[in-house]
Amino acid sequence: MSDLSKSFENNERIDVEELFGNNVFSLGVMRERLPESVFTEIETVIEHGGELSLATADIVARAMKEWAIEKGATHYTHWFQPLTGITAEKHDSFVSHPDREGRMLMDFRGKELIKGEPDASSFPSGGLRATFEARGYTAWDLTSPAFIKETATGPTLCIPTAFCSYTGEALDKKTPLLRSLEALSTQALRIVRLFGNTEATSVNASVGAEQEYFLVDQAKALKREDLIFTGRTLFGSPAPKGQELDDHYFGVIRERIGAFMHDVNIELWKLGVTAKTQHNEAAPAQHEIAPIYESANIAVDHNQLVMETLKRVAGKHGLRCLLHEKPFAGVNGSGKHNNWSITTDNGINLLEPGESPNENVQFLLVLACIMKAVDTHADLLRQSASNVGNDHRLGGFEAPPAIISMFLGEQLEDVVRQLVETGKVSNIKEGGTLQTGVSTLPDFEIDATDRNRTSPFAFTGNKFEFRMVGSEDSIGSPNTTLNAIVAEAFCEAADRLEAAEDFDLAVHDLIKEYMTKHQRIIFNGDGYSPEWVEEAARRGLPNIPSMVEAVGTLVTDKSIKLFEKFGIFTRSELESRAEILYETYAKAINIEALTMVDMANKQLVPAVIRFSGKLADTVNATVAAGGDATVASDLLKRVTGLLTKMQEARVNLSIIEKEGSAMERGRQQAFYYREKVVPAMEELRKPADELERIVDKSYWPFPTYADLMFEV
Ligand code: ADP
Ligand code: MG
Repeated sequence: MSDLSKSFENNERIDVEELFGNNVFSLGVMRERLPESVFTEIETVIEHGGELSLATADIVARAMKEWAIEKGATHYTHWFQPLTGITAEKHDSFVSHPDREGRMLMDFRGKELIKGEPDASSFPSGGLRATFEARGYTAWDLTSPAFIKETATGPTLCIPTAFCSYTGEALDKKTPLLRSLEALSTQALRIVRLFGNTEATSVNASVGAEQEYFLVDQAKALKREDLIFTGRTLFGSPAPKGQELDDHYFGVIRERIGAFMHDVNIELWKLGVTAKTQHNEAAPAQHEIAPIYESANIAVDHNQLVMETLKRVAGKHGLRCLLHEKPFAGVNGSGKHNNWSITTDNGINLLEPGESPNENVQFLLVLACIMKAVDTHADLLRQSASNVGNDHRLGGFEAPPAIISMFLGEQLEDVVRQLVETGKVSNIKEGGTLQTGVSTLPDFEIDATDRNRTSPFAFTGNKFEFRMVGSEDSIGSPNTTLNAIVAEAFCEAADRLEAAEDFDLAVHDLIKEYMTKHQRIIFNGDGYSPEWVEEAARRGLPNIPSMVEAVGTLVTDKSIKLFEKFGIFTRSELESRAEILYETYAKAINIEALTMVDMANKQLVPAVIRFSGKLADTVNATVAAGGDATVASDLLKRVTGLLTKMQEARVNLSIIEKEGSAMERGRQQAFYYREKVVPAMEELRKPADELERIVDKSYWPFPTYADLMFEV
């Protein structure tokens, strides 16, 4: 436990202002510690891109090293985000070659700061890099500040980096994100210029990610192989109580959880993460944390730090943090609401309706472009939020459905309807004011209340909330995709409008055209209902039920054209990512299948045999003693019947799994796992869960749902 949490136990006051960002080599720290000219060079690179000279990098490295050593650091690492979805680090100490007399000076050079060469052969590359060419490069990303991570290895200086192959292909989640942000900035600038904004020099995406998670007791979790190996329960009958009383959501936070949250906040604040909200979520043992939104690139890094910190601090409290999308069947899973907006560097949020008609026209154009983007690339957006665990949520009648649609709120939806039907807006719902005269597009104030929690992509006043993302996943891909598809729509709109003779007329026509063409993407109803699935099919909206079915969307002509046009992915980068996703899926399901087989073999079958043996003894003894053995013998029949079923399903799963793991890696194997292995796993789970409900609890070999979710 940190010193600070000890001080909390003593009720000492914590100076959050003093604490905040303490472990960050922020602009403020750089301004203090670097010569002015160097600082200015850094600021320029952050704002406008480019590279630092080696001489400058040497000066920065020295200052960074001194700062880190003052904080107790002995090591540094290039901190990067390979395609595993989590982060990677390889620590180097500052130790250098001793002199003749054995004295050593701690050393850190510019070249070590700006570039690393980790052996990349063991990271997924999807064929982009043959293992004999193992070199990968990590390059310092100046737009995300270096920080010190305090773990059991001691304070370590972490330098956020991008990760590329020898030939420059992206092997990570950060590189394409940075490329997409550049594309978005360039195209969005063209839009604001059209409306007379000459001040803005760049446009950035802002992101706030709400993170859901479960907390269970560590000791209990360690008694379950499934939680250890797969992060979710593969067996387990629902507890008598679930989330039906809605008593957990926003409920009083228990002391043990509160102490955990307190420590998490402190650790995050030190890292400059603006931990802001915390509450209990819908399912028992489920919670949420959200920081204040910030620049997309930093938000992606910070979300990784949030996930890491949740896990690490949980361990210190004897807890285990489950980030899996569906740790428990029968109650809500966990997601990550990705709140996204676009803002110019002179402070204009393009998703905020303004005060003047001109600003509102711009807002409506941006909205029309986003409708076009989301409708055109609904498949890609859905793909960007898919991972193995999220298959249990999306389309599973909880959280958002697997079908992408947009929710605009009643008032804005009505504006769109009027524009589509009549080409103008003649009244505003809910008492907004209407100003006519300047254009046919009115002045209005948006009613920001969001009444639809089932929508996967909802407008919430001044931002869109993309609710499909899985809790364990990086938010890198969803934001890369959002930036890319919106950049494309902005680009096409700007091409037309820049060439128009009568701008007012052209912009009006374009808004009407886009909204008319893409209005099918708007949906305000219940996204969980079966009627919506039918309605969406009538509208021609894609319904992609699983991760493996989503992978193909990456390599369609439409996708390659989009990503290549804006230099975000090359065709081979997309193809390699698709390969990696297929492989990841097959591997993850294989681990789950093997874990189930192992648990069945070594724990469930033996436990049930012991219990049925005991029952048989009881039946015999009862009959011998002249008693009525009906209850015990009926139970014995049921138990042994289910035991046989379980054993058959176990054998079947083993056979099917072996066939799968012998297949060649790739698309076909992934589909095999989805279509053959997953159903065989479900067949094994059924008799096991039924047995759990009737077998004497003292025989059951591991903690149950009730033990895990209600006794934290
Ligand atoms: P809710 O659960 O009602 O959606 P929260 O407060 O839990 O609200 O989370 C909202 C998230 O959206 C926070 O991270 C917040 O900082 C972020 N956010 C607010 N405004 C914007 C914006 N303009 N752009 C991006 N994110 C935003
Ligand atoms: Mg939200």
